[in-house]
Amino acid sequence: MQINVSQLLKSTIGVKREYAIDSTIDLLDDGNVTSIRGNIELIRTNRGILAKGTLHSEVTLDCSRCLCIYNCPLTINLEEEFFPVIDVVSGTSLPAPEEPDSFQIDEHHILDLRDAVRQNALLALPMKPLCREECAGICPECGSDLNRGLCQCANENIDPRWSKLVESLKTSNKHKEVE
Ligand SMILES: [Zn+2]
Ligand SMILES: [Zn+2]
Repeated sequence: MQINVSQLLKSTIGVKREYAIDSTIDLLDDGNVTSIRGNIELIRTNRGILAKGTLHSEVTLDCSRCLCIYNCPLTINLEEEFFPVIDVVSGTSLPAPEEPDSFQIDEHHILDLRDAVRQNALLALPMKPLCREECAGICPECGSDLNRGLCQCANENIDPRWSKLVESLKTSNKHKEVE
């Protein structure tokens, strides 16, 4: 995720380099380090280097319905320009670009993708995290995980027209247990 770009900085505008990323990163800064893979293209621009590509990783999230912790795959699209802090040929420091939160290439000509990747990962997070599309959530009454089956509350709130059927199911279940 840290690439020495001194050669690319010496190249003419439009020159491209491809990098295969196969690394690890703590995407959400929460102590969960996951693998990250993909391809990044670095392109020399008039002011610096444009990093462009798609990376695949995953983050640990809380399901918004059942509150369980699950691994959510994440596709991170990156397109950020990085600006050198010093001139690669003369070694003199360069004025900071007008954009306030722009990404920098440090004085050793290292382009560090990690902050840019983290920022773009935040944009890729789901608005409503779900452990799976059909997650049943938790019972608002007793808090039990409905993915593991219905709780007692479901029986109490059942439509009276169905209660006979529920009762007979219960008794047949009991018979099974006895067997
Ligand atoms: Zn869930
Ligand atoms: Zn319940």
